[in-house]
Amino acid sequence: MIVVLKENPDQEQLNSLIEWLKSKNMEVFFSEGKSQTILGLVGDTTQIDGDLIAALDIVESVRRIQEPYKKANRKFHPADTVIELPNGIRIGDGSLTIIAGPSAVESEEQIFKTAALVKAAGASILRGATFKARTSPYSFQGLREEGIRLLVAAGKENGMPVVTEISDIQDIDKMADIDILQVGARNMKNYALLKELGRCDKPIFLKRGDSSTYEDLLMSAEYIMSKGNSKVVLVERGIRTFENYTNDTLDIAAVPALKQHSHLPVLVDPSRSSGRADLVEPLALAATAAGADGLTVEVHPDPQHAVTDGRQQLRPEAFQSLVRKCRTIHSAIKEEN
Ligand code: PEP
Ligand code: MN
Repeated sequence: MIVVLKENPDQEQLNSLIEWLKSKNMEVFFSEGKSQTILGLVGDTTQIDGDLIAALDIVESVRRIQEPYKKANRKFHPADTVIELPNGIRIGDGSLTIIAGPSAVESEEQIFKTAALVKAAGASILRGATFKARTSPYSFQGLREEGIRLLVAAGKENGMPVVTEISDIQDIDKMADIDILQVGARNMKNYALLKELGRCDKPIFLKRGDSSTYEDLLMSAEYIMSKGNSKVVLVERGIRTFENYTNDTLDIAAVPALKQHSHLPVLVDPSRSSGRADLVEPLALAATAAGADGLTVEVHPDPQHAVTDGRQQLRPEAFQSLVRKCRTIHSAIKEEN
């Protein structure tokens, strides 16, 4: 349920309304937007008489939110959520945030080299899997603790916050120095993991499951947010369709649709979705044009010899061209708006 307040509400009346709602076991969230101030209520709102609240002097209107996701809902929080990171980096503030790095951290030389190259090309956040979630238990599982140490060191050296995937909550203490935790597509519905991540105060990149709807994704975000962590970033990375030329089918409509229904930032991963380096740039351009808040792109100094996902990783020169073109598209769209 949301309570839309009139302009400049009497502070005393507002405080007593909030107190009364809390006494009814409601969690109350205050959201001050450009044109409206809203109280978002979470809890068993069937207990609350909306007409009674609507009759108050300070209240403009009362609406029930039909969608099952509340905290992730734009109705609940009309303004865009902006995620603040070290080094003044922001996601969701209208800029185009570029996250790049190898599929997996493979060695000290590889991650330091990649970090410097992607930074020079315009990326602001460094990615790299350390605990790899693989389809086969016999495939490379990541450098694990050593990978985290290397990723963090390479990020520090280049002034870049770092992101790596967490698939087991038991690994969370090992990731204390990681700035952003990623939930992979396979774990989007791992509710135990999501709830635990809701109790930590790091931003979470939540990737869409390959067979999940927008509502499924937003409900997973809700799991994290329901435990107190509102720093969630949604990531579209392709869905399963009958097409098998690409790894998955990038769903461009997800970008505007998710942004309509949620205030959370939306990133696009053109690497995982296509699984093909030759399609990464055009998909990144399309995602930028569709209004994505950023891109997460796999880059490797020598993709042919990459331990994992060589086919989808870009060479640094190709990445540089992608960033340049995406920035041009992004500025053109901002000028129009
Ligand atoms: C990744 O980003 O490296 C990854 C494994 O992606 P996804 O979880 O989307 O498959
Ligand atoms: Mn990968």
